[in-house]
Amino acid sequence: MKNIDLSPRRVGLLAFAAGMAAVPFLPVPDYWITKLNYIGLFGLVALGLVLLTGVGGLTSFGQAAFAGLGAYATAWLTVRYGYSPWLGLLVGLGVTTVVALVLGWLTLRMSGHYLPLATIAWSLALFYTMGNLDALGKYDGLLGVPAIEVFGLSLQEERRMYLLIWVVAVLGAVAVTRLLDSRPGRVMRALNVNRGGGSTMPEAMGASAFRHKLLMFLVAALLASVSGWLFAHMQRSVNPSPFGIKFGIEYLFMAVLGGVGHVWGAFTGAALVKLAEDQLQTWLPALLGTSGSYEVIVFGVVLVLVLKFSPDGLWPVIERWLPTRRRPTVAAPAEALPARDKPVAGSALLQVKAVRRTFGGLVAVNGVSFDIRAGEIFGLIGPNGAGKSTTFNLVSGVLPLSDGEVWLRGERVDGMGARAIARRGLSRTFQHVKLVPDMTVLENVALGTYLRTRSGTLAAMLRLDRAEEAQAMAEAERQLRRVGLGEQMHELAGNLALGPQRLVEIARALASDPALLLLDEPAAGLRHREKQALAEVLRQLKGEGLSLLLVEHDMDFVMNLTDRILVMEFGTPLQEGTPAEIQASDKVRAAYLGTEH
Ligand code: ADP
Ligand code: MG
Repeated sequence: MKNIDLSPRRVGLLAFAAGMAAVPFLPVPDYWITKLNYIGLFGLVALGLVLLTGVGGLTSFGQAAFAGLGAYATAWLTVRYGYSPWLGLLVGLGVTTVVALVLGWLTLRMSGHYLPLATIAWSLALFYTMGNLDALGKYDGLLGVPAIEVFGLSLQEERRMYLLIWVVAVLGAVAVTRLLDSRPGRVMRALNVNRGGGSTMPEAMGASAFRHKLLMFLVAALLASVSGWLFAHMQRSVNPSPFGIKFGIEYLFMAVLGGVGHVWGAFTGAALVKLAEDQLQTWLPALLGTSGSYEVIVFGVVLVLVLKFSPDGLWPVIERWLPTRRRPTVAAPAEALPARDKPVAGSALLQVKAVRRTFGGLVAVNGVSFDIRAGEIFGLIGPNGAGKSTTFNLVSGVLPLSDGEVWLRGERVDGMGARAIARRGLSRTFQHVKLVPDMTVLENVALGTYLRTRSGTLAAMLRLDRAEEAQAMAEAERQLRRVGLGEQMHELAGNLALGPQRLVEIARALASDPALLLLDEPAAGLRHREKQALAEVLRQLKGEGLSLLLVEHDMDFVMNLTDRILVMEFGTPLQEGTPAEIQASDKVRAAYLGTEH
């Protein structure tokens, strides 16, 4: 028999769920049932924003419009043609998918504010379309939307609708929770530019940033669309007003207020806004003696206060009072992930041929060539501004070359882009550490297994990815132990000091099973002790036969580690040789003295 999880958190959650399930069977006034139905519907839309905005850092004002798409699709089919609401659901989801993919395709490749602007435009366009089309009943909308039937049972009564709404809401929340704890979910969590993330690191791990943004946008749109479908059949009518830009803003407000990075924050926010709105709509006009939507002003003030004092929203404040979640313990030994054929020691691994890169008029790298053989540690050193990082980016595919060639294992790879080069066995770390701070060390390292695993978004939501996840976690743990961080694997990466963070990056790169590992200034900013620990790990990796390209500013650090060194100055090669030759070179000493002192 499987172990039953009886942690206080789980028991509390089950008790809460049982209470929610019992509500329609208790003598709760209809008034409250209706409120709870709305909270469920709003929460579903806000849930999509938790994923899109909280996790992914992408803002959409168009979620109400997606809800409108779901609502109008089903209303039109059921009212005009007498089709089943279930067909209405399918068509609504289909149309939403097409619109979301087109909108996402057009805007998600561009940076920053194109998406919010596009969602506003889309929201307005849909609103006026709904309001002006005869087929959709213009601003009066469509009346006489039938009730949903489940196994012949009509959900005409609010209490029955309550059960359907909350089953869907909980399933949505569970699916998003599972998604976040999965292979695509880790990539999504790494993309948030507001939390120091971005595309560069996931791309270096072989994951497409664009694809994952599009997936988040699609999932969020579908959640809104389902909410719209439920809404249409609960209200038994549709009209354009609940799907306009005002509600698009309100949904965003709910998500931010509740806690935009937390699944249950969506429902917290929906509940707070719905309850407060109803109260304020009665109190404020009475208090002020005139009628009007004064609650909007109060909401604005509250939002500012929440963002000031609890920028993650209210859910983290609530969560502090709940029993803590049990850390996932790493499962029993899982089958190893597939490994690549390793290059034979001494064979040609990387060949850099006269690469050149200019930025406008500045020649950052000019005619740099070097070879790395399998099993070697090659050092690329030079004073600040010598062009080391640029060379590194040319080799790893982050920057396109102006001229020259890069060959990896006998294949020309320049011009391929970071993802394709990663797939061919090159893995890297970053000069400015790029970890996801609110993910555990183990999860961060598991990101490195992206190219060795397959599970997608749907599999993650349905939990069909567990066997592979266990493999990925076991691999991540193995790599963490390899760099001596086994004890810290359940800590949040953001809580580690710089030295251990650099080692986590190395473990992440190792988790991709690289043929060649590129390290950009791994010793920069480290204290003496941390440098020693790092050097020890690198020496051990070399002992295991790994090939390394070490880009360093610190000459002493590379002297005892590398087999050969290339010194760069002003973007050009100055001298190549063994550490002893480099150390004895007057040219090199002059270059370092010239710029350093
Ligand atoms: P290093 O890593 O050796 O310190 P870099 O490769 O970072 O040197 O920089 C080499 C030169 O190229 C510097 O003069 C730097 O200012 C310039 N440079 C680097 N990246 C860019 C960029 N994206 N745009 C313009 N100039 C750049
Ligand atoms: Mg640099």
